[in-house]
Amino acid sequence: MTREGGLGACPQAGPGDCTSGQHLLVDGKRVPAEGGRTFTTVDPAHGNPIAEVAWASKSDVDSAVTAARAALTSGEWPGLRPAERGRLLYRIAGTIRDRADRLAELESRDVGKPLSQARADVEAAARYFEFYAGMADKLGGSTIPLGPGLLDYTVREPIGVSGQIIPFNYPLQNTARGSAPALAAGCTVVLKPSPEAPLTPLEIGQLALAAGLPPGVLNVVPGDGDTGAALAGHPDIDQVTFTGSVPTGIKVAQAAAANVVPSVVELGGKSPAIVFADADFDLALGAVVASVFGNAGQTCSAGTRLLLQRGAEEFLDRLVRHAASLRLGPGLEDPDVGPLVSARQRDRVEQYLNLAREEGATVLTGGGRPAAPELAHGHYIEPTILSGLKNSCRAAREEIFGPVLTVLDFDDAAEALAIANDSPYGLSSYVWTRDLDKALTLANGIQAGQVYVNAVGVGTGVELPFGGYKHSGWGREKGLETLASYTQVKNVCVGYRG
Ligand code: NAD
Repeated sequence: MTREGGLGACPQAGPGDCTSGQHLLVDGKRVPAEGGRTFTTVDPAHGNPIAEVAWASKSDVDSAVTAARAALTSGEWPGLRPAERGRLLYRIAGTIRDRADRLAELESRDVGKPLSQARADVEAAARYFEFYAGMADKLGGSTIPLGPGLLDYTVREPIGVSGQIIPFNYPLQNTARGSAPALAAGCTVVLKPSPEAPLTPLEIGQLALAAGLPPGVLNVVPGDGDTGAALAGHPDIDQVTFTGSVPTGIKVAQAAAANVVPSVVELGGKSPAIVFADADFDLALGAVVASVFGNAGQTCSAGTRLLLQRGAEEFLDRLVRHAASLRLGPGLEDPDVGPLVSARQRDRVEQYLNLAREEGATVLTGGGRPAAPELAHGHYIEPTILSGLKNSCRAAREEIFGPVLTVLDFDDAAEALAIANDSPYGLSSYVWTRDLDKALTLANGIQAGQVYVNAVGVGTGVELPFGGYKHSGWGREKGLETLASYTQVKNVCVGYRG
């Protein structure tokens, strides 16, 4: 991943490759990192380099924060009327749609995800900008009745400069998910993408500029954990939005707290998918497969713990056959399952598979790297289903972040609920049953930020508040709820002689 030196030539120049992915985006300009330092981003399907990307240092982060602070307080941005901000966000959504093919191809190559899944991510990114565009002119306050001689009202002001740190698995969506509501609220943003997938966040930054976003309002500074730490602990940011793993989230929240700055931390998950014997198996099957094996299992909200009612074994037979039939291949060939993002991630998943075997798991399908020679250079793991683990086993409890499903049995709704909640995580959950009583009992009892009943991934999910209970984090993104993170309330109390 890392290589010091100047901004190298793109190793695989061609349409859609590296044309704008090499530089930082600071104050509306594409600039090299301090000292010309770069890293290489790699195509996980073949292990080939895609692009040399500027690697932001602490001083580059300083420059980006300075630009974001200046854009917040002077120039065009703070003078825009909310409705004009909204129109600008709609224009950004339009430029994303205009460049959908290029963005999907870039995302597919950089992350390894199947092209059709990357296209869905482009759609979601555009939807974030549209959804929050519509909110820019609706962030009003209220009046509070205090009686004669007093007028009291509240205003919601932008919280200021938002520092945003995102992971590798959904760079397009995460860029839009954090920046669109922040911009709608009138904030400015410094965004740090993952070093494993920096290309589409840089592209979105460029598209936003092309759509008319003033310089400095959205700055993009790719880099590693040190770059992220410089941003999270920067004394001149006002808010932090972090998406990533639990250990990093703890560090980010601590860094923000040290500056008395609020944070939203969206962390990992090991979400239960609870399938009762009376469920619509056809519906549940497609949803479980998409949730666990989509994006090669690198989805925080994936239902990776299948809780299956005893008597529903037919569902598992069908699921195993389906998983075994999934086609692996490079993302650009639009297979069912692409490679994992990196060799590091692939190795981590393999270690978990070894651990699961040591813990007594039975491998029902998959279980390691595919044998096909044409896949040997990519970071692939076969879609894997494991049974025979207890919920106390590490492989059943910890987030593997690969295409791996563990199966646990239960007898009734009470047992399903107990197993579902016996987890350090609480991000999402899925319930499959035709019985309304059971469905609502579980929806009430599950400790998770989202419960889907006989549904999953409704549209792009942009409208639905999303965030974790327990170790899955705090704060909410998506929906209207996230706007609270990017605004602060001022109360104004005025005395007058009536
Ligand atoms: P990660 O925690 O390793 O990295 C996330 C980001 O933090 C990266 O940009 C990384 O460079 C940066 N970083 C690393 N160390 C840092 C530090 N000390 N200070 C500041 N930033 C630092 O996570 P990852 O491996 O990129 O992504 C996988 C994890 O993300 C999984 O646990 C997954 O569940 C989680 N995730 C959560 C959500 C959600 O919305 N809840 C969504 C996607 C991914």
